[in-house]
Amino acid sequence: MTTPRIPRIELRDGTSIPQLGLGVFQVPPDETAGVVADALKAGYRHLDTAQMYGNEAGVGQAIAAAGLPREELYVTTKLNNGFHRPDDARRAFDDSLARLGLDRVDLFLIHWPLPTLYDGDFVSTWRTLAELTADGRATSIGVSNFQPDHLDRIVDETGVVPVVNQVECHPFFRNDRVRSANQRHGVVTEAWAPIAKGAVADDEAIVQIARDAGKTPAQVVLRWHLQHGHVVFPKTTRPERMRENADLFDFEVTDDQVAVIDGLDRGEEGRTGAHPDRFDWIPA
Ligand code: NDP
Repeated sequence: MTTPRIPRIELRDGTSIPQLGLGVFQVPPDETAGVVADALKAGYRHLDTAQMYGNEAGVGQAIAAAGLPREELYVTTKLNNGFHRPDDARRAFDDSLARLGLDRVDLFLIHWPLPTLYDGDFVSTWRTLAELTADGRATSIGVSNFQPDHLDRIVDETGVVPVVNQVECHPFFRNDRVRSANQRHGVVTEAWAPIAKGAVADDEAIVQIARDAGKTPAQVVLRWHLQHGHVVFPKTTRPERMRENADLFDFEVTDDQVAVIDGLDRGEEGRTGAHPDRFDWIPA
């Protein structure tokens, strides 16, 4: 397969992001450099990591070894839950840059809002992220797992609108309320667990659409996301799946197929991760 041509999505701060990348959640730290090297070879240029994943150093090693022009890469990392106080957030950001071996990241996110911790103050944390764009060390800033009221609050209280909100989103949990809030604020939806952690391959309706399209279940679901305007970064450690998950640009799912996949939404029942209103885990 030739290197895929990956479209970019415009963000509200005038930058743009490749609509497809590789996520490295649960990629073991000692395997990450090899996995990311394989992804860069397969044509991926957008990498989604986090302080919480413990594998930023591996991402950085692969970037250094690849020797690609910096502007060809798009690197996202996220603030860990223990570092929401402004001084901690500044220090944690510096540590991320050091581990990644970069002098800037393209996108820095608050990983979780943690409304039950820090006296419910994620607004100071958001102001601190805004500081990091001032000297260009974070080109763009955004949030993750923000519910509509969290989003409204940071926008009301700071006037700074995130470029993205990275939230759980897949056919079984469309997360419509959050996607509408994102849209209302001009915030791009980044879909985490885009293939429901692999479960889309077991759904009969999706398997049938894949057969009809001559594609795999993962491919039709990733294509469904792209057509909804979401940014995706399916996780895999396997080079053949990296190629499969990036082979999305020579077909479309039809309006009828989109409607069938839309219809698989199970609302809250379909959620696989924690509810952002209650999640309060701080890694040791
Ligand atoms: P995904 O929906 O990307 O699913 C990953 C799983 O699917 C893995 O078990 C993988 O296995 C398998 N898989 C990958 N490709 C295929 C394929 N073509 N066919 C069948 N199975 C496949 O879930 P993730 O939770 O990993 O989400 C993706 C990314 O989103 C993360 O890596 C991370 O960057 C981000 N994320 C962010 C969160 C947040 O709170 N902000 C929370 C969770 C994720 P294998 O590796 O063996 O191929």
